[in-house]
Amino acid sequence: MSRSDFVILVINKMEYEPVIGLEIHCRINTKTKMFCRCSNNIFNEKPNSHVCPICMGFPGMLPLINKEVVKKSIKAALALGCQVPEFSKMDRKSYFYPDLPKGFQISQYDLPISEKGKVTITLPDNSTKDIGVTRLHIEDDAGKLTHRDGCSLVDFNRSGTPLMEIVSEPDIRSIEEASAYARQLQKVVRYVDSSDADMEKGQMRFDINVSIRPKGQKEFGTRAEVKNLNSFRSLEKAIDYEIKRQIEVVESGGNVIQETRGWDDTKEITTSQRGKEGAADYRYFPEPDIPPLVVTKEMIEELKKEIPELADAKSNRYQDELKLQQEHAHHLASDASLAAYYEKALEISGEPKKTANWVLSELLGVLKSQSLTITDSKLSAENLGKLVKLIEDGAITNKIAKDIFPEVYEGDLDPEKVIEEKGLKVVGDTGELEKICQDVIDRNPQIVADFKGGKEKALGSLVGQIMGATKGSANPKTVNEILRKLLT
Ligand code: ADP
Ligand code: MG
Ligand code: ZN
Repeated sequence: MSRSDFVILVINKMEYEPVIGLEIHCRINTKTKMFCRCSNNIFNEKPNSHVCPICMGFPGMLPLINKEVVKKSIKAALALGCQVPEFSKMDRKSYFYPDLPKGFQISQYDLPISEKGKVTITLPDNSTKDIGVTRLHIEDDAGKLTHRDGCSLVDFNRSGTPLMEIVSEPDIRSIEEASAYARQLQKVVRYVDSSDADMEKGQMRFDINVSIRPKGQKEFGTRAEVKNLNSFRSLEKAIDYEIKRQIEVVESGGNVIQETRGWDDTKEITTSQRGKEGAADYRYFPEPDIPPLVVTKEMIEELKKEIPELADAKSNRYQDELKLQQEHAHHLASDASLAAYYEKALEISGEPKKTANWVLSELLGVLKSQSLTITDSKLSAENLGKLVKLIEDGAITNKIAKDIFPEVYEGDLDPEKVIEEKGLKVVGDTGELEKICQDVIDRNPQIVADFKGGKEKALGSLVGQIMGATKGSANPKTVNEILRKLLT
């Protein structure tokens, strides 16, 4: 091998590390738009049916900021651990686009409503990592163009709907981390009810910023930005494509250009759209029609009270205080409605683990089989809680509870009434149960001798026979107690 061969080999073995930052837009779920009283519920509505002179950008119209937009964005910001300064303002960001008749977006530039937060992500190997949130600011959305048969149609329903843009620090180092970050963010904004963040309805969109650098290098490489990804799948695919593309560019002796790229969902490639614009291109200046936003300490305290316990804190509490296994705790806490259902059922049953099992296995099992979610459950949390309590009290066995579950679920029935009507109550009369136990003891001298000789397992075989004799309607716990009493 010559010296030059050796050099090429070393270069080819260069390992690269991606550096990723995400800009995520979430539509704020207010009833009305950001600056007018048009409805903000625009999904699948007839084009241009939710518009007025303000959101269509007629000259001379005066916008008035929707207080709910401010409140909901602050709630999301607080849940992300952001600081909310007392003073922020709106700015005009000028650009021309046919779906933006006023010729500018009303956004925030140097004084956003909040900044400096973080999102804690959990990776597949259960390790956690903090991703910095640079800022969360508010802005209005543009209309929507549809290109068809050689012409372009514009729908202004989306025009003036409120968005939060959440910008991350370039702390993300892999596709897995990017995906976990985006999913965690979705969970948080949903938890505080600031956004429904439903991607199929266009309520959450991603812009990715990707660069690569040789492993071990401190300085960041030049980034490319890919705009408007509208699913987790395209987020992951686009990052993957960009990393590979940039490595190829660098390996073949070229330089990555700072630019804005688009994502082709069918070909699964990114393509160059335009050179990256700088702040100067937008001619930002303070929006003269909207007074600065003043957020008092009292207002922040009020909003803090409205923030529920968040998913991670809930999951930790379920594990620490209720002793649930991690998987169950995560699952229950992942969805605010599911957690609320569980907690309500638990109030009645008083049995954390059993209630978790019943919610996650039996109830979600039925719901999943019908493609439903917890909010569609026919069974109330109260009646599920009662069912678990009946098992815990020994009034019915687990087996009987499972048998009557479909009926209880369908009619949202009080399980206590069901078992009474059906005569399914456990053989509760200890006198009767004692007789059956004594009977089984008398018929199994060998097993009894084994048990008395120290074989704990032998007892199980007796319990089994008694359960058989009572057709499963005896409480195994009680049977155990009676047997031990009779055998000592
Ligand atoms: P702009 O608003 O012009 O897109 P920002 O400075 O706000 O620029 O950054 C946008 C995003 O790019 C942020 O999420 C940031 O973390 C990310 N970013 C900045 N530099 C890099 C880099 N070298 N590689 C990858 N991402 C980066
Ligand atoms: Mg950007
Ligand atoms: Zn309007």
